[in-house]
Amino acid sequence: MTSADLTRKTAAELADLLAAGEVSSRELTQAHLDRTRAVDDRIHAYLHVNAEGALAAADEVDRRRAAGESLPTGAGVPIAVKDVMATEGLPTTCGSKILEGWIPPYDATVVRRLKESGLPILGKTNMDEFAMGSSTEHSAYGPTRNPWDLDRIPGGSGGGSSAVVASHQAPWAIGTDTGGSIRQPASVTGTVGTKPTYGGVSRYGLVALASSLDQAGPCTRTVLDAALLHEIIGGHDPLDSTSISDPLPGLVEAARRADVSGMRIGIVRELTGEGFQAGVQQRFDESVQHLVDAGAEIVEVSCPSFTFALATYYLILPSEASSNLAKFDAMRYGLRVWPEGIDDPSAEQVMAATRDAGFGDEVKRRIILGTYALSSGYYDAYYGSAQKVRRLIADEFTAAFEQADVLVSPTAPTTAFRFGEKMDDPMAMYLNDIATIPANLAGIPGLSLPSGVAPEDGLPTGFQVLAPAMADDRLYAVGAALEARLTAQWGGPLLDQAPDVLTLPAPTTAATTTREA
Ligand code: GLN
Repeated sequence: MTSADLTRKTAAELADLLAAGEVSSRELTQAHLDRTRAVDDRIHAYLHVNAEGALAAADEVDRRRAAGESLPTGAGVPIAVKDVMATEGLPTTCGSKILEGWIPPYDATVVRRLKESGLPILGKTNMDEFAMGSSTEHSAYGPTRNPWDLDRIPGGSGGGSSAVVASHQAPWAIGTDTGGSIRQPASVTGTVGTKPTYGGVSRYGLVALASSLDQAGPCTRTVLDAALLHEIIGGHDPLDSTSISDPLPGLVEAARRADVSGMRIGIVRELTGEGFQAGVQQRFDESVQHLVDAGAEIVEVSCPSFTFALATYYLILPSEASSNLAKFDAMRYGLRVWPEGIDDPSAEQVMAATRDAGFGDEVKRRIILGTYALSSGYYDAYYGSAQKVRRLIADEFTAAFEQADVLVSPTAPTTAFRFGEKMDDPMAMYLNDIATIPANLAGIPGLSLPSGVAPEDGLPTGFQVLAPAMADDRLYAVGAALEARLTAQWGGPLLDQAPDVLTLPAPTTAATTTREA
């Protein structure tokens, strides 16, 4: 098999080839590293490539397999990790200048589990600074490009993780989703992404944006691969006080059965129709019909408080972020900038100079917003009210899940937009997450899978499935059932319709739209 063939396979297929001894982990790790060398100067999905470390890990898995050891599922299939997860001995920047040069002394639990399962780590992927954004344009190291069109955004904040998977540089990747950063990038790149139930995957070692919303999860090309990866990284962790101790439901089993017969599927009135691009809505409607054909029953539900989800999120998230980012004080991590023209600066002056130089505009905007919302006299009016609306949203989900087993909507309101289109208008950028944010506020799981390409622009559209907390298995049952019907209709995976990255016209926009790397 040629190395190009190996990079087209799904993680599940690669795991089977490895188990059958038809390929070594070194061969397929090398194949993905070669692909990165060929295409990533066009995509810029990686901030750091870990070639040597990945090959060493691959050799170790090959050695163990040759010695007849029984290995975990997926052992030897390489993976990319969003640069927000602490990786021992590897740079972890969160897409920020303030963490440039920081090498964590420990692994995040998710990373430790990848290593324990024998997944070689190919590298760290690009992201909006501290996971704030929907386009990866807020990365301090320059944006990632969408493999479907180099002039367009790959989504955000985890644009790097979705782009490595969409451009066949990695079979799968880890992302994080605070308001949609796994699902929205999946939607605009024609890939699959899951935000697990809050507490279902450990947050230990995930550099916090908003602790009550953050959740790491899989970025893949198929629903089955997402279930496999979710099982590898999920489950209780004593190092995370919000980690759920119950075992995960059978995710891979649900994906393999792909059974939706008799399932009640709820269409959320507030998350469809007006405000959604025509082609996105059209592909959504067709997908719903596929699920009906597969035996599901459709009900319409209404969750009126969802209209306030964005406003609620943009009070809670900045409040938590302003507190979480206070630790970047110029003393403990990464960058330290000495203020100019001051002979003997105080700690405060060094901190101010460092934060001024180290944080980008979006991070500063949110720190200011959050500090304001939490200040005495305003706390009840802003943060307190937001918490109350958050409760209403969670209650409306609970009521909706009495009528339906899962809820569905388009994942993002539009297909991938062009670089620069929304950079001057934070509100327009925030609106990309209108359909994904409610799940984070309520702590429930969500999955996005490709529903096709929009007829008007030929770009991927996403279908979102939401389930009650700890019913993540339903995401995979519905996702796999829909995926089977859609891929049969398309005659193969959606990504087969994507142009070859190497033959795409050169981008017309500059390589970086924020600060230069
Ligand atoms: N785009 C959203 C934001 O800017 C979501 C980010 C995320 O999920 N990390 O906050």
